[in-house]
Amino acid sequence: MQTSPSGAPSEERLEHKENLNVLTSTQAIIREALEKLGYSEAMYELFKEPLRMITVRIPVRMDDGSVRVFTGYRAQHNDAVGPTKGGIRFHPDVTEDEVKALSIWMSLKAGIVDLPYGGAKGGIVVNPAELSFRELERLSRGYVRAISQIVGPNKDIPAPDVATNSQIMAWMLDEYSRIREHDSPGFITGKPLVLGGSQVRETATARGVTIVLREAARKVGIPVEGARVVIQGFGNAGSYLAKFMHDAGAKVIGISDVYGGLYDENGLDIDSLLEKRDSFGMVTRLFKNTITNQELLELDTDILIPAAVENQITAHNAPNIKAKILVEAANGPTTWEATQILTERGVLIVPDVLASAGGVTVSYFEWVQNNQGYYWTEEEVMQKLEQTLVKAFHNVVRMAETRGVNMRLAAYMVGVRKMAEAVRYRGWV
Ligand code: NAD
Repeated sequence: MQTSPSGAPSEERLEHKENLNVLTSTQAIIREALEKLGYSEAMYELFKEPLRMITVRIPVRMDDGSVRVFTGYRAQHNDAVGPTKGGIRFHPDVTEDEVKALSIWMSLKAGIVDLPYGGAKGGIVVNPAELSFRELERLSRGYVRAISQIVGPNKDIPAPDVATNSQIMAWMLDEYSRIREHDSPGFITGKPLVLGGSQVRETATARGVTIVLREAARKVGIPVEGARVVIQGFGNAGSYLAKFMHDAGAKVIGISDVYGGLYDENGLDIDSLLEKRDSFGMVTRLFKNTITNQELLELDTDILIPAAVENQITAHNAPNIKAKILVEAANGPTTWEATQILTERGVLIVPDVLASAGGVTVSYFEWVQNNQGYYWTEEEVMQKLEQTLVKAFHNVVRMAETRGVNMRLAAYMVGVRKMAEAVRYRGWV
């Protein structure tokens, strides 16, 4: 770091140092959103951290007889609107701050799509690829035993996130039902259909991104059919998105995974890539002519969809982004500074808390179906998802236009408003 003669970091350098901490950068936008809506400092103090954050140690008997102890977290951001809701992530880089930020984003998503929930998130520090199937089962069950006192169908409802799936949800449901000694399908969402899962849940995030992307494209005047699309990440979200974009007649010219990207200006053969991809979303290692993820993000394209990890578009590369629409399927892919640079350059940003809200929306539909014991068809779920997301997209656009703010701040303002009202009515602040 450049220092001043006194040895302290120079102000000029500090001014240009970007905040890449997802928690503190989220807090700064929440503060601005609340200020713009006229709420007090006390409301910010309440929202800047989760109401509850629990850290658990989970002992797991490994296949070789040894015991490994894993660290897990569950953050419940705010339950003024209703029970909290949010996924569980299995990843070696999970941190307390990340889980807290993700729980805040879930509150915002619930507010944006108008669900009767607050946000939550869970995570376990683990590389699931290193565990056997049975070790993964024991870890999943151990996590539920560790957090069972603070979760439940009317308290806090988990779901899948990065590297967790319907099988893991099934083990977690089974463990919870054993502890409570009754069947409770509404405890968790993202379950297999036979255990009370919902139609469309598996593809819900990508479906949701596709719906808001279509609305954004209409607004900018770019027909999806024939549009050039670049997608970073080829996992659950990215691969389904590539398929839906391809099926909608768009030309997917670039995709990537953690090892690099593939590019073809005439459009990639998505069906063949989907066949070749492994269950962790890896495919590019099978090819020789790859590009880097940075090159991929800067490709000449109409639509760019980050669907991988955080902090991919920063002040450093934002000036080189050529897309006209940026739709964030991933959580936190673009920094606040990059948001401002892109907005000034006229790029329409559909922020993460809006674009990736399809998953929690269909999770809500799953929970409603569990509560009523009556299940909807795929068409019914799709129709409800469509209605919910189209309305949410236009609410955020309206907020951005009437208040003269960028799309991310507008989404935060829409997202935080219902929760703040609920807090006020309850008399907490
Ligand atoms: P995943 O683990 O299935 O896939 C991740 C993909 O990103 C893989 O192709 C991986 O190779 C790639 N990747 C990982 N690190 C990378 C890096 N540094 N650079 C480039 N590529 C990298 O995960 P997913 O479920 O598809 O989630 C992706 C993003 O979407 C995450 O931010 C997640 O929070 C968000 N999201 C997912 C869902 C969902 O339902 N799956 C819902 C909401 C938001």
